[in-house]
Amino acid sequence: MMKLCSIASSSSGNCIYVGTDRTHILVDTGISCKRVKSGLESIDVDPGSIDAVLITHEHSDHIRGLGVLSRRYNIPIYTTELTWRAALSSGTVGEIDKNLFRKITPDKDFAINELVIHPFRTPHDAADPVCYTFTKNKKKISVATDLGCYNSYIAEKLKRSNVLFIEANHDIEMLKNGSYPFYLKKRILSDTGHLSNEVSGRLLSELLHDNLQYVILGHLSKENNRPDVADQTVRSYLELSGCISDSNLKLIVSEKESISPLIII
Ligand SMILES: [Zn+2]
Ligand SMILES: [Zn+2]
Repeated sequence: MMKLCSIASSSSGNCIYVGTDRTHILVDTGISCKRVKSGLESIDVDPGSIDAVLITHEHSDHIRGLGVLSRRYNIPIYTTELTWRAALSSGTVGEIDKNLFRKITPDKDFAINELVIHPFRTPHDAADPVCYTFTKNKKKISVATDLGCYNSYIAEKLKRSNVLFIEANHDIEMLKNGSYPFYLKKRILSDTGHLSNEVSGRLLSELLHDNLQYVILGHLSKENNRPDVADQTVRSYLELSGCISDSNLKLIVSEKESISPLIII
């Protein structure tokens, strides 16, 4: 059995829980320790039982709660050496005990209890950004956000997932016509920015297979996207590829301020 729950996912804060009955992991802690704690308690996970925090990259929407959380619960922090250094010098996390750092290397598996974790590189404007897949007994959960684009390397890493948590950051027209300053629009639309609903839909249509049970769209922009727009756009790509209507695939959009349903496979 494997579980996934999005405790928070948007441009303003990200924290995803992945676990089994005996292993509990957080991907990113970009919200307050208090919100992480109440989110975990709402799915019956004791915050003191978290085995590891995996950090994707040092942007504040991914590490804001890391300092307080690690000081309170002494949780090991897994990330690349460059991201670790960038996080410490970001001014966002305060003092963190160096002994909590566990160095990972992109493309090299590591294990936390019975879960095998695979980190892989992503195109994003951070020091050394990665995303993660989790496998246990041939079941696979993938969490992939903060990608400016995708390529065959990324598509390969995400293949054969049973649960896919994937970024659908913005609607291109909403972003272009919105109030963000030009430099920010340019950054988001660039190949090291964020995945639009359209590109996310295209990537998903390449990843569909009979055993893909859940797709959760995450990291939605507060200003440049809406859950119904993300859902419709991605769904239209899946329908175009003829794969959603007659399959068991469930498409879920993570709401900006609330915790997602607990997904169990
Ligand atoms: Zn980022
Ligand atoms: Zn982000």
